[in-house]
Amino acid sequence: MEFARNAAPYRAPEKRLLDFKEIYTDHDVERLTTQGARCMDCGVPFCQSGEGCPIHNLIPEWNDLVYKGQWREALDRLHKTNNFPEFTGRVCPAPCEGACVLGITDPAVTIKNIEMSIIDRGFAEGWVVAEPPQNRTGKSVAVIGSGPAGLAAAQQLNRAGHTVNVYERADRIGGLLMYGIPNMKLEKKGVVERRVKLMEDEGITFHTNQNIGDGTEGTVDIRAIRDQHDAVLYTTGATLPRDLPIPGREFEGVHFAMEFLTANTKSYLDSNHEDGNYISAKDKNVIVIGGGDTGTDCIGTSLRHGCKSVVNFELFPKPPAERAGNNPWPTWPKIFRVDYGHEEATQRFGEDPRIYSISSVDFSGENGRVTGINTTEVEMRDGRIENVPGTEKHWKADLVLLAMGFLGPEHGASDPLGIEYDERSNYKAEYGKYATSVEGVFAAGDCRRGQSLVVRAINEGREAAREVDRWLMGSTQLP
Ligand SMILES: Cc1cc2nc3c(=O)[nH]c(=O)nc-3n(C[C@H](O)[C@H](O)[C@H](O)COP(=O)(O)OP(=O)(O)OC[C@H]3O[C@@H](n4cnc5c(N)ncnc54)[C@H](O)[C@@H]3O)c2cc1C
Ligand code: SF4
Repeated sequence: MEFARNAAPYRAPEKRLLDFKEIYTDHDVERLTTQGARCMDCGVPFCQSGEGCPIHNLIPEWNDLVYKGQWREALDRLHKTNNFPEFTGRVCPAPCEGACVLGITDPAVTIKNIEMSIIDRGFAEGWVVAEPPQNRTGKSVAVIGSGPAGLAAAQQLNRAGHTVNVYERADRIGGLLMYGIPNMKLEKKGVVERRVKLMEDEGITFHTNQNIGDGTEGTVDIRAIRDQHDAVLYTTGATLPRDLPIPGREFEGVHFAMEFLTANTKSYLDSNHEDGNYISAKDKNVIVIGGGDTGTDCIGTSLRHGCKSVVNFELFPKPPAERAGNNPWPTWPKIFRVDYGHEEATQRFGEDPRIYSISSVDFSGENGRVTGINTTEVEMRDGRIENVPGTEKHWKADLVLLAMGFLGPEHGASDPLGIEYDERSNYKAEYGKYATSVEGVFAAGDCRRGQSLVVRAINEGREAAREVDRWLMGSTQLP
């Protein structure tokens, strides 16, 4: 009742656009304790259950501990439910805030800011240390894929005393934490690798450049890995991108978003972009097709390269400013939001880059290179998207980035074991159980549920570890 919501600001767009460093400002303790005081300690804290936090973070408890200045205790409460608050505190869209009871009448508590400040303080104070298990069980688990689901599962299984080997196709550990989400949103060397190093100190072995498959050229045979371990857990993500098969798709300059984002981060980490091994948006007219986090990250990256212009096409209409009648509290508010990339584009070019209700018809090109896109406006009629005649338009483009989501997991690592898939081609395994159709083989994260969020991947990784432990030992004490 006394204090208004006052979220921590990002660095000013004109400054942060000059580098790939994190967009966040230093934590302001006074602001955080005041914001923690806004939490009402509700009888039923919707923020931490149901529609709220998927890992059930004990939010009212640590809000109050921060308000009272008991940071160490707040960290202990936070780590009880979340293996990696430094990831979620930076990149989570915070469904907890959408479900905050205060949100019925007032702007929600700044839960995500408080989460990030607790863990950053924990690292700064040296409170976050490796926690190797006291005893080993003699059992071993292979985790295939090192995104947040794989990392959370690995940490939990290792803490239960199992020997854990994580196999990753990329040259660095982290999945989309490393090679999807860009550095300005989640620091790789300082934040992701810091956690990986701690996990190594806890006794987990990471194997990079291991393309798990059927053993044919360039792959490691999953059957051999299975023979070497007591259990296998797939956390391979939903890595197949949705394509846009319209005329001209083959032109040079049309790329999947992940080709652009992965190469950018790799080159940045390898050489501060000096090796030139990335797709540059410098001086180009960039069109990003598809919104969401991936689209925003393409916008932010293009701007940092120094693009000439950037436009973002969205098929669906602009969301409303306030919750619609069929989108009540505490469900996730489907409202118009301005993310970091949109704010930066507005700062650089004077307007929001997003164009709504638009569909791409074909690409135009010269000498095999893309030069533009022809579009039409669309509208929803009886639940179907239809073109609006007479709204055709041509847009100049030298670089087109396809950010239209992902179809599901690849099957190269799973087919050799004969795993069953569901109707959307995800690994078939029931939520809460995570067992696939093959005995002793489990699946969790985006490869099981489809493209989702870091916090949901952590949730599934933790729970899958519990089920693997139960399967190995007959009972489990993992949460
Ligand atoms: C560009 C982008 C930005 C995003 N931004 C956000 C955000 O801001 N907030 C948020 O909450 N979520 C975000 N997401 C979604 C989030 O990153 C994912 O939901 C999450 O990372 C899924 O975790 P995962 O562990 O299931 O899989 P992933 O993170 O996809 O990890 C899977 C890993 O498995 C490896 N792998 C796959 N096949 C093999 C194989 N055959 N052999 C060995 N290894 C293999 C892959 O190389 C990868 O490292 C974003 C996604 C993208 C693409
Ligand atoms: S992990 Fe996400 S949903 Fe959970 S408390 Fe943190 S910001 Fe909220």
